[in-house]
Amino acid sequence: MGKRKLPYRSALAAAARGLNEELQKERGRRCVVASVKLISIGSFCLATIMSLVNSAISAEEPVPPPSGQKKIAFAIHGGAGTIDRSTMTPERERAYHAGLERAVMAGYEILKSGGASLDAVEAAVRVLEDDPLFNAGKGAVFTSAGTNELDASIMNGKTLAAGAVAGVKRIKSPINLARMVMEKSPHVMIAGDGAEAFAKEMGVELVDPKYFFTEERWQALEKLKAEKKETPVSDKDRHGTVGAVALDQAGNLAAATSTGGMTNKRVGRIGDAPVIGAGTYADNRTCAVSATGDGEYFIRVGVARDVSSALEYQNASLGDAAQRTIDKVGQLGGTGGLIAVDKNGNIAMPFNTSGMYRAHISPDGKTVVEIYK
Ligand code: ASP
Repeated sequence: MGKRKLPYRSALAAAARGLNEELQKERGRRCVVASVKLISIGSFCLATIMSLVNSAISAEEPVPPPSGQKKIAFAIHGGAGTIDRSTMTPERERAYHAGLERAVMAGYEILKSGGASLDAVEAAVRVLEDDPLFNAGKGAVFTSAGTNELDASIMNGKTLAAGAVAGVKRIKSPINLARMVMEKSPHVMIAGDGAEAFAKEMGVELVDPKYFFTEERWQALEKLKAEKKETPVSDKDRHGTVGAVALDQAGNLAAATSTGGMTNKRVGRIGDAPVIGAGTYADNRTCAVSATGDGEYFIRVGVARDVSSALEYQNASLGDAAQRTIDKVGQLGGTGGLIAVDKNGNIAMPFNTSGMYRAHISPDGKTVVEIYK
């Protein structure tokens, strides 16, 4: 008898096959679930390890500013002196305002986008150096010999590194060269021909000394040479300087100062602007300072370091410390002012003259430009 498939048998076989397939599928599903679980556990462990590694790295990062995260502050000056409202034309006043605003914005944009305080102060000072209205770079005053000799300095509050140039005659942006001295040489200050040789090595822009000629500064020199006791020349014609101080989002302070010095100064005379501790100082533990005024007095008082020391040793507020230092200059017979920002972002701008070209960014982000008392 031939083998005949009984209907119930084939039904049973089909059911068994179906069951087997289902079992296979279930095993497959479980396998996938188990693998997914394994992968998840693996990724969790990896993420944990990575975050531990990251927190170990960020422990090396600079300490955030004490008053909270991401606070920035920025101020600049364009020199202090007898600035008389009655002799200032509206056009001239507008030009000063525009120049100060351009410079303060150049630095502030850098700070806002998370840039370094050093870059911000250098950028603002470079804008002022290129503006013939201010006594620095292009608008530098003349020596008694009818030449221009420029001074500048910059300081990093995080490391206390500093750089300065003095008595340079062909450097378009002395602040840029001062930064090169700080970052690319083992020195703090380089003067005269040596500074210019260093500039050539660094590829820094040199210009013909004629670049610094401006009619207004020449007239100021003539006036001063002809000065009689009974008609003293205003200090507006004698001096000026530019500078900037900044606190960046990482809590780092920086200061920069650049000047043509004093009109009719002796050849080789060096003022306070390139002297670290006199015209410029910055220390993350205290404040950043840039000064302007009769350089000889500012050197004798050690103005910029004096403000920082009052914060460091006497726990003084920035406003009190800055005012007291300017008072010391005044007691000796010197005139001028300073700008300063502390580690918490407070700003002080005292001066003992009738005006100081200045600008800062207010806590709500507005640009404030001022000239008079
Ligand atoms: N402090 C500068 C100097 O004595 C001049 C100034 O700021 O007015 O060279």
